Amino acid sequence: MRTILLLLLLATSALAETTANKLVVLTFDDSVASHATFVAPLLKKHGFGATFFITEGFEFLVDKTHYMTWAQIRGLHDMGFEIGNHTRKHAGVTKQKPEQLQADVEHIENQCAANGIPRPVSFCYPGYASSEAAAKLLASRGYLFARAGGARPYDPAKDNPLLMPQAFDGKPESTLEQFKAAVAQARDGKVAVLTFHGVPDIKHPWVNTDPANFEAYMNHLKQEGCTVIAMRDLQRHLRKD
Ligand SMILES: [Zn+2]
Repeated sequence: MRTILLLLLLATSALAETTANKLVVLTFDDSVASHATFVAPLLKKHGFGATFFITEGFEFLVDKTHYMTWAQIRGLHDMGFEIGNHTRKHAGVTKQKPEQLQADVEHIENQCAANGIPRPVSFCYPGYASSEAAAKLLASRGYLFARAGGARPYDPAKDNPLLMPQAFDGKPESTLEQFKAAVAQARDGKVAVLTFHGVPDIKHPWVNTDPANFEAYMNHLKQEGCTVIAMRDLQRHLRKD
């Protein structure tokens, strides 16, 4: 009997070392003001981690009603959230020369440094378009993770972490059932990487998430007992073997 118990204990601890089921990465794109005013406090209440992907594209430089200030972005970092790089101008990487992409990536790194935010290790491809060349450039600059588009879970055993797919992309027409189905894919070593823009997103209504819907999504993650982390935290959550 004692031997069986011991074996059970050993089996349990071995399992604990593999990637946990219900591992979810929350990501928020485009530096929208509602990330600071609505999303971050709600996530904090739930104890969730998240990555905010910062760009100075769109009207970031002139419209400080709808886009965060760097002080607000620094505030997200101070709350424990990850600040990721979404490029200076939000240009599609496949249309850029390597030196243009490098300059746009470097600009956000410099802005982070100027605002007391650690150099980003996570990147998000503007407009979802990715390329092997861009992934190589990111690797050379020390990036560990980069999210593109898609509609499937990230499989750390097979996928390049610098060409990571998303399992869900919040849109005005998205439903709680779709969200639940995406989250349910976080099993067997796979991770559900979830994308949102503004909550709400007044300037980009085609990627808007209604705050009430968002609260329902977050309640589902809580009820399911999901481990909800920032992208950088995959480093310590993924199985090592
Ligand atoms: Zn974007």
